Amino acid sequence: MAAPGKVAAFRLPPLPTIGEIIKLFRLKALKQLSQNFLLDLRLTDKIVKQAGELKNAHVCEVGPGPGGITRSILSAGVEQLLLIEKDARFIPGLQMLSEAAPGKVRIVHGDILTYKMEKAFPKHLKKDWEDEPPDIHIIGNLPFSVSTPLIIKWLESVSKRDGPFTYGRTQMTLTFQKEVGERLTANPGSNQRSRLSIMAQHLCTVENCFIIPGQAFVPKPEVDVSVVHFTPLVQPKIQQPFELVEKVVRSVFQFRRKYCFRGIETLFPENGRLKRTEQLMMTANVDPTLRPFQLSMSQFRNLCNAYRKMCDEDPSLFVFNYREELRQKKMTETLLGSTGQPEQT
Ligand code: SAM
Repeated sequence: MAAPGKVAAFRLPPLPTIGEIIKLFRLKALKQLSQNFLLDLRLTDKIVKQAGELKNAHVCEVGPGPGGITRSILSAGVEQLLLIEKDARFIPGLQMLSEAAPGKVRIVHGDILTYKMEKAFPKHLKKDWEDEPPDIHIIGNLPFSVSTPLIIKWLESVSKRDGPFTYGRTQMTLTFQKEVGERLTANPGSNQRSRLSIMAQHLCTVENCFIIPGQAFVPKPEVDVSVVHFTPLVQPKIQQPFELVEKVVRSVFQFRRKYCFRGIETLFPENGRLKRTEQLMMTANVDPTLRPFQLSMSQFRNLCNAYRKMCDEDPSLFVFNYREELRQKKMTETLLGSTGQPEQT
């Protein structure tokens, strides 16, 4: 968990306010891009503090927009700040900030979902995975439609130690819709416990830092926002490939309200499904009548390990796709008609 950092370690020269920047460059928030801006620098300071000590750190800010969080990051005394912004309208305002902090800011007009992070920082910052996290941080207030696919992509990168995690256990401080923040940190038994809880918590220490009320943004979104901090774990709690963990967890949560047995069944082809499901549950020592949201991390680990063992014994198992089986079955039924006989034409 990051110890909250100090913010004012570097003084920016007097600048127009964020509100004035928005007016000056006519930066009307675009609804279709879910743009909601933070104008209150006390709040942006509070977000940036959650990242921990940033003095002399290298930071990547995703979606800087008009630059509120950007100013707080610069004030924290960072060594280098990389800004990745998709909307070209914000670039001139960001350039103005860059001139106010000479030699510190690099602006990329691009999409964070495709930007290659493995070469974004100097090589000498690299740390071994087992070491303390490197002096590299990712911070961002992104649209909800981007932050959720992005965190899934980055969790996969944590597992594979690629992208931003080529440098070691890079920490992230990101915003999410409040409900997604609750899912990311939900404990067993909680209503919000979901696929995202297991995928995030098995790879990272995840901390729901605080809630920003919707009215703090301009324009106001329909929901409140969570600031969430992630530190990749030295040892993932489930030591299996990302794709395997993802498949097991997705299958289990497919029928949220039913016994976990029901979702686990979908890991196996129809022929021998019941027997194999029983075998998996027995090997994993998991009560089949527990509901998915009741399962602990160690029960998920046992399920993944037991499934891995079965896949090693029968390599065709891992590629089995339940939805594809259903689709094929439906097609056959349509072809044969309801009588089970080929239809007369
Ligand atoms: N950080 C600013 C703030 O807090 O006021 C702006 C936040 S606004 C919710 C999201 C920002 O992310 C916008 O500037 C938007 O253009 C940018 N953005 C959206 N999708 C992006 C993407 N795929 N890659 C990079 N930036 C993106």
